[in-house]
Amino acid sequence: MSVSGSWERTARGAMLLGPGGELSPTIFAEMSALAASTGAINLGQGFPDEDGPAEVLEAARAAISAGVNQYPPGLGMPVLREAIAAHQKRFYGIELDAATQVLVTAGATEAIAATLLALTDAGDEVVTFEPFYDEYGAITALGRATQVTVPLRAPHFLPDPDELRAAVNDRTRVIIVNSPHNPSGAVFPREILELIVELAHRHDAIIVTDEVYEHLTFGVEHMPVAGLPGAFERTVTISSGGKTFSTTGWKIGWAVAPAELIQAIAAVKQYLTYVNGAPFQPAIAVGLGLPDEFFASAAATLRAKRDILSAGLASAGFTVGTPDAGYFVIADAAPLGVTDAAEFCRALPSLAGVVGVPVTAFVRPANRAQYSSLIRFAFCKRAELLEDAAARLAGMTLI
Ligand code: PMP
Ligand code: GLN
Repeated sequence: MSVSGSWERTARGAMLLGPGGELSPTIFAEMSALAASTGAINLGQGFPDEDGPAEVLEAARAAISAGVNQYPPGLGMPVLREAIAAHQKRFYGIELDAATQVLVTAGATEAIAATLLALTDAGDEVVTFEPFYDEYGAITALGRATQVTVPLRAPHFLPDPDELRAAVNDRTRVIIVNSPHNPSGAVFPREILELIVELAHRHDAIIVTDEVYEHLTFGVEHMPVAGLPGAFERTVTISSGGKTFSTTGWKIGWAVAPAELIQAIAAVKQYLTYVNGAPFQPAIAVGLGLPDEFFASAAATLRAKRDILSAGLASAGFTVGTPDAGYFVIADAAPLGVTDAAEFCRALPSLAGVVGVPVTAFVRPANRAQYSSLIRFAFCKRAELLEDAAARLAGMTLI
C-alpha cells in the first residue's frame, strides 16, 4: 500500500513510512507472508506451532460458554489482576496491590505503547539496547521522543557498562530493558540491571522492562528489574501470556507498576483498545496459577528445540550463538560467504525452503554494518519441523 499527497508529511505515522512514503509491513509480517506464499518453513515470526496447556484452552472455552463475552473492566478482570499479583509474589517475591498496581492490556505490545505514549514527549530521550524489538523505536517515534541506543554485540549481546553510562543523561525519560532479549536470547546479569537502576535514580528516569520471555530461560535465572532494591518505585514491568502459554493470538498482556504510573498508562490505554479479550483473561489467570512443573517443562521443552535447531544450523555451516532464553537463535551466515543477511533472507525460501529474519531489522540503519551477516531463526516449533528446516539448510547450494 502506498500513500501520497500531504498526508504522509503531516501524520505522525509518516515517521514510520518507507523512503517512498510506502506503508511497509513489519519484518515479522513480511517474512510470514513470504513463508505463506512460498510454502517455506516459517522460522521468522516467533509463534509456536503447537497449542499450550489444555487447562488454559479449556478455561477460555468455558468462559465463552459462561457468557464472558462483553467488555471487561478497564483495568482488566479482577481474577486476572489478582493472578498477576500472585504470580509476581510466587516467582519473584514482589508484593502488589492487584486493585491499583496491575493493568491488563492487549498483549505486551499495547502495554509498551501505552507506557511510552504516557511517559514521553518531544525532547525526551528513550534509551534502548540495540538490536531492539521494533516496537520500541516505532512508538518512541510516534510519541516524538528521541531514541538513544546502547549496542549489544555478538556473541554475548550484553551491554558495555561505560556505553550504558554514556547513553543516560538528564534528558532520559525512559530506559527500556528487554531481558530475556529478543532477538538474541541474552539474559542481563544482575550487575547490569543494578547499574540501570542506579542510572535511573541519578537521572530521574523510569525503567520500562519487557519480560515476555520471563519463563523461557535455559538454566539461567530470570531476574525482574522491579525486584532489585530501589527499583520498584520507578519501574513499569511488562509481560504477557502469549509466550508462556503458547497463546500469542490471544493478546493478553499486562503492566505492573506503582499506582500513579498505572493510572497514567491506563489513561492512554483506554483510548487505544479500551479493553480486550474478555474470555481469555480468566484463562490466562488459570495459566498463571499452574504448578511449577508446567513452567519448568515449558522451558525444558524449548531448550531441547533450541539444541535441535542450533545443531542443524551449525552443520549447515553457520556460526551459531547460544541463547540463554526465549524463542530465537542468532546464526551468523558469514562463513557461508553471506554479507547481506537481509538479501539472503529474501532468497532463503527459494534457496532452502526456510524463512528467517535478518538481525538488521532490529537495528537502526546507521548501525547495521556489524550485524549485516546475522539471521534470527525461531525454534518455538515442532521438533520434526526444526529437523526438516535444518536438513534443508544443510542441503542448500549457494550460487
Ligand atoms: N516484546 C517482545 C520482546 C516480543 O518479542 C514480543 C513479541 N512476541 C512482544 C513484546 C509482544 O508481545 P505480545 O504478543 O504479548 O503483544
Ligand atoms: N514477537 C514476535 C517476534 O519477534 C512477533 C511479533 C510481531 O509479529 N509483531 O517474532
